[in-house]
Amino acid sequence: MERYDLIIVGGGIGGSALAVVAARAGRSVLVLERTEVFEDQVRGEWISPWGVTEVARVGLLDLLVGAGGHYLECHVTYDETREPAEAEARTLPLSIFAPGVPGPLCIGHPHHCQTLLDEAVRAGARVLRSVDVHSVSVGEAPGAVFTHGGVRMEARARLLVGADGRNSMVREACGITLNADRPHHMFGGLLVEGVEGWDDRKQAIGTEGDFAFLAFPQGDGRVRVYGSYSLEERARFAGPDGARKFLNNFRVNCSPDNSAIADGRPAGPLRSYANNDTWTDTPYAPGALLIGDAAGWNDPIIGLGLSITYRDVRIVSELLAGSDHWSTEMFAPYAEERRERMRRLRFVASITSTLDAEFDEAARARRRSYFDRSANDMSLGAHAFAIMGGPEAAPPETFTPAYRARVLGEEIG
Ligand SMILES: Cc1cc2nc3c(=O)[nH]c(=O)nc-3n(C[C@H](O)[C@H](O)[C@H](O)COP(=O)(O)OP(=O)(O)OC[C@H]3O[C@@H](n4cnc5c(N)ncnc54)[C@H](O)[C@@H]3O)c2cc1C
Repeated sequence: MERYDLIIVGGGIGGSALAVVAARAGRSVLVLERTEVFEDQVRGEWISPWGVTEVARVGLLDLLVGAGGHYLECHVTYDETREPAEAEARTLPLSIFAPGVPGPLCIGHPHHCQTLLDEAVRAGARVLRSVDVHSVSVGEAPGAVFTHGGVRMEARARLLVGADGRNSMVREACGITLNADRPHHMFGGLLVEGVEGWDDRKQAIGTEGDFAFLAFPQGDGRVRVYGSYSLEERARFAGPDGARKFLNNFRVNCSPDNSAIADGRPAGPLRSYANNDTWTDTPYAPGALLIGDAAGWNDPIIGLGLSITYRDVRIVSELLAGSDHWSTEMFAPYAEERRERMRRLRFVASITSTLDAEFDEAARARRRSYFDRSANDMSLGAHAFAIMGGPEAAPPETFTPAYRARVLGEEIG
């Protein structure tokens, strides 16, 4: 039986980043990753400016930039209720949100995971791929039973970390259930290549008709695009011509440059999800701890899962480094910070999805009214500041029904 300081189940972003940081700090680490090769699952490729700060704080920024990380510099919100020129007159520079950070950092998700996992090996972690984890145990004797290369093995650790994503088996073994709110809309994503004529430092979002688009250039003519549409139309882009139909929705009057995207080639699968938030107040149990999506995820419409995961890694690795006597109670500050962080981000995701991903006449009027009012009142952009600058960068009153009502132009009951 092998023994480690940490066994990490899941070698995606959270698992492999924590493995690097812990191994660099001298801990013995075993990473168990199910896949042989990371593939495009339509996952995050955009790290918010506050997430970039977190990446830097765990000592991984040079690695990601060296691996081809691509910074974005400006943002435009297009909309059917205004001319393209009006939208572009309000282009937002993206260097204003986090000190020393030029803007969001984009890097392909499979490449991002592989880069981190390779670094974990260099730092001294033992990394096993194509692993079938049969069971995990928590409590007094944390560990895992798994098959690797046809051999059944067992390992024990001082701490078991669940970095195994949305359907976490570690979370289940801990008996932790997630709270979940109701899905609000469908959200599909696709990587597009051969995009010629799109400024590759410009990200854009926009709503027209029954579709809301988001576009994040990755460099070299590749753009990760997303689209929100109604929950009632779950199967809208199903079938062999789904990706082409999806791209055709990018041909909109409110953003003429989008034709460059629509004319591009699908460079991966189109995947759609019913977007919602999930969370737990206690992402740990005796002998075990959850990070990243395993501990609950934020609605991807605001693209913060990577930033959240990097902050988890930073806080957890600091707690682990702070003591040689690891106890369950030691993780209480992590739970406390994460609870408030996720509450705030859930709140701004809900404002964002109501504003950008509803499609009736009332929603159009709401967006137009918001553009007019926010042009003269910067305080109405506080939720966007929380998304870009971090959940603590906006004042606490941003996360109240009164602020939500002001942004959405609603009466508060
Ligand atoms: C459509 C969509 C778009 C998104 N866009 C963005 C974005 O632009 N920006 C952003 O910040 N976030 C985005 N996110 C969220 C982001 O992708 C996730 O929050 C992030 O990937 C979480 O990282 P993780 O390491 O916790 O989990 P994952 O990335 O899911 O990794 C989990 C790993 O665990 C492995 N695993 C799972 N089960 C087992 C097991 N039993 N045994 C061994 N290994 C296992 C998996 O193979 C995987 O490698 C998006 C999410 C979605 C759904």
